[in-house]
Amino acid sequence: MPRAAAALQTVLDEITEIARASENRGKVADYIPELAGVNPDQFAIAVARPGQPPLVAGDVDVPFSIQSVSKVFMLALALGKLGDRLWSRVGREPSGLSFDSMLLLELEKGYPRNPFINAGAIVTTDAVLQGSIPREALGALLRFIRAAAGDEAIHINERVAQSEIATGHRNFALAHYLSSHENLKNAPDLTLGTYFHQCAVEMTCAQLANAGLFLVGGAGAPRLVSEARIRRINALMMTCGHYDGSGDYAFRVGLPGKSGVGGGILSIVPGIASIAVWSPGLNHYGNSKLGTEAMERLASRTGWSVFGPDTRQTDG
Ligand code: GLU
Repeated sequence: MPRAAAALQTVLDEITEIARASENRGKVADYIPELAGVNPDQFAIAVARPGQPPLVAGDVDVPFSIQSVSKVFMLALALGKLGDRLWSRVGREPSGLSFDSMLLLELEKGYPRNPFINAGAIVTTDAVLQGSIPREALGALLRFIRAAAGDEAIHINERVAQSEIATGHRNFALAHYLSSHENLKNAPDLTLGTYFHQCAVEMTCAQLANAGLFLVGGAGAPRLVSEARIRRINALMMTCGHYDGSGDYAFRVGLPGKSGVGGGILSIVPGIASIAVWSPGLNHYGNSKLGTEAMERLASRTGWSVFGPDTRQTDG
């Protein structure tokens, strides 16, 4: 292994050790019954760089539910289909509210703040679904993710999707509210069925880090979207990717990122790397607690940040 890769591997191993020893691991999402039973003691991290094998540490063979991280891939598909017309249906501003909040949606008449809160993601999915059927839209999503990751084994966990269909009352409320403002073009049940299945995509950390390479750009990275679109998706991940914790994540980590309630986080170091981290326990924003802490450590140890290196010498 080249020296730089070996040094990075040491950092990942140390970060994993610290995470494994952590007592406060956050709280596993229990509003989706199928996720409630996931063992909170698990932790994994992977770094993928264009043209190089990913570096991994921790429980790297365990697939997890990527949940809202899927919104990044669906956004790329929706922009590919509609281009800038998408912005007439969903905004580009942080919401400052939780991922499933209804408050702003009512005040702003069915125009969701951004494509990463649930209401905005439901609209994005609806846009991809328009003129198609759920099986085709999900097929397009899987093709995109598999091409980005270079891995045909990536799949949807049907049990997780069904579990959310049975209990996703808030998402049904959001979808029907969007429909009342004519911001859904398909029947709410169809759009939601597609949305719940997209959230139920399962990946290991290495698969997710590889799938994120399309947002890294530069030589050797998969070219699935234009450079201009990469820049904009990364900007949205930075400002909106962690819900009402987005400012805190930018402050602590300084990288574009998207979290999911399954405990996964995908973060991009533009031009350099795609990082996936997973630990199922969530902080009060609904983002992986140990995952966020691990990303903060990794950014600090490597100097990777779009705002310049963290010059602190300690973890403090
Ligand atoms: N499927 C989840 C929901 O809609 C995704 C939320 C998340 O990962 O933040 O509630």
